[in-house]
Amino acid sequence: MRIASRRPFRIGRSKAGLGLFATRPIKKGAFIIKYWGRKLRNKDADELETKYLFELNSRWTIDGSPRRNIARYINHSCRPNAETDVVKGEVLITAYRNIQPGDEIAYDYGKDYFNTFIKPHGCRCMKCKEAKAKARAEKTAKTKATRRRKKTKRAKRP
Ligand SMILES: [Zn+2]
Repeated sequence: MRIASRRPFRIGRSKAGLGLFATRPIKKGAFIIKYWGRKLRNKDADELETKYLFELNSRWTIDGSPRRNIARYINHSCRPNAETDVVKGEVLITAYRNIQPGDEIAYDYGKDYFNTFIKPHGCRCMKCKEAKAKARAEKTAKTKATRRRKKTKRAKRP
């Protein structure tokens, strides 16, 4: 017998490595998970070699690198379905819109993180993937149109 998990999500394979996926519908505004970790002074956090830092304010940062911080598996998206709120020194992740089972849960990591860690190798979120696919399709269509035009020209020659 399978025991139903209380958590409405699971860790799974994502386009960007591992990710967190909804296993049950999550209503807009509903609490999903806490970003759990050790609280550090920002100046001490700056010394750490980890990407799993969540800056709370101008003084404090959470080091979310421990594996039991499940929220660290949540990937970045430029079109997020979740958001983070800092409430009394804790980072709460809530649904920004209705999330369906199977959807990957993602929030916007913010400009600084994006520019430092994501931009250099390209963003792999759904929004950016769709934009890339669209650009590729448009390029292909253009190339084909050019080829067609050339052919027509050639055909008209005596
Ligand atoms: Zn993106």
